[in-house]
Amino acid sequence: MTLRPILIHPDPRLKTAAQPVAEITDEIRRLADDMLETMYDAPGIGLAAPQVGQLHRLLVMDAVKEEDAAPRPMVLINPEVTWASEDRSVYEEGCLSIPEQFAEVERPAEVEVRWLGLDGETHAERFEGLWATCVQHEIDHLDGRLFIDYLKPMKRQMITRKMQKLKRERARG
Ligand SMILES: [Zn+2]
Repeated sequence: MTLRPILIHPDPRLKTAAQPVAEITDEIRRLADDMLETMYDAPGIGLAAPQVGQLHRLLVMDAVKEEDAAPRPMVLINPEVTWASEDRSVYEEGCLSIPEQFAEVERPAEVEVRWLGLDGETHAERFEGLWATCVQHEIDHLDGRLFIDYLKPMKRQMITRKMQKLKRERARG
């Protein structure tokens, strides 16, 4: 497994809709493994393929919060929200592509998602709490949407300027 560099906003690849995965190849398996390792290393609770520059509809997540609980690494290929609750919930979200910036985002409190697993089978599950927020945030990435797109323009521009500055500093190294 290999750690992959995570793209930092603004980057055109983070604004591009990703393509469905047509076949689970060795390349896709390797990508999923690398993304899980990259996510745990960051550390984060979710990572979408466009964040490592791969425009495939694939995401990984593990939103287990309890420190001594067993990890639950999940790989979702071509995920689709098939149902969303009318109940909404607000979470303070962050993003590995927008380091150290957090903001409250309101989303459906529960969602049902259907996806293709690495086993080639179709899976479906209802997510709630942090898992629901996480899976919606990651699916947004596959559509080229970031959590800051839900914020008021002023706040979004402020965060974008901070990220541009961070990228310049990193480039100077
Ligand atoms: Zn994100």
